[in-house]
Amino acid sequence: MRFRIGNGFDSHRFIKDKKFILGGVEIIYNKGLDAHSDGDALIHAIIDCLLGASNSADIGELFPPNDISLKNINSETLLSQVLDLINKKNYEIINIDCIIICEEPKLKEYKPLMIKNLSKILKIKEEQINIKTKTAEKMGALGRKEGLAVFTTCLLNNTDF
Ligand code: ZN
Repeated sequence: MRFRIGNGFDSHRFIKDKKFILGGVEIIYNKGLDAHSDGDALIHAIIDCLLGASNSADIGELFPPNDISLKNINSETLLSQVLDLINKKNYEIINIDCIIICEEPKLKEYKPLMIKNLSKILKIKEEQINIKTKTAEKMGALGRKEGLAVFTTCLLNNTDF
């Protein structure tokens, strides 16, 4: 099969006294995302969809949460490794579409920065990445600002065909 789509999802809880990093960009806020790594849910969800579309392992198998070498690791490093992995299987990225659900802070103004950064890591054009930011309309845990969630979809092209 030449074209393959993949879906990704990730969510993390907000905690105090941690930097808030999303898409490799530091967001100004009084909390960060709780995780073994830097908690970059956008990058984690992108990794998840790339692995899915390329029929590879999932993020937990590839980077186990109990692996000490991954503690506080910069998720950009993981994303670069996943790009290498899909490139080795002869997949190239056609596009990635992302939805970030976050009540607070407002992330809209960070979108150009995140897209620029992600396109650099993934070696694709900015037009190949789209990010949409939404709130949960004050419903549930996301609505109570307990954390954020990210959904992603990507389309890959296998150059073997
Ligand atoms: Zn994550």
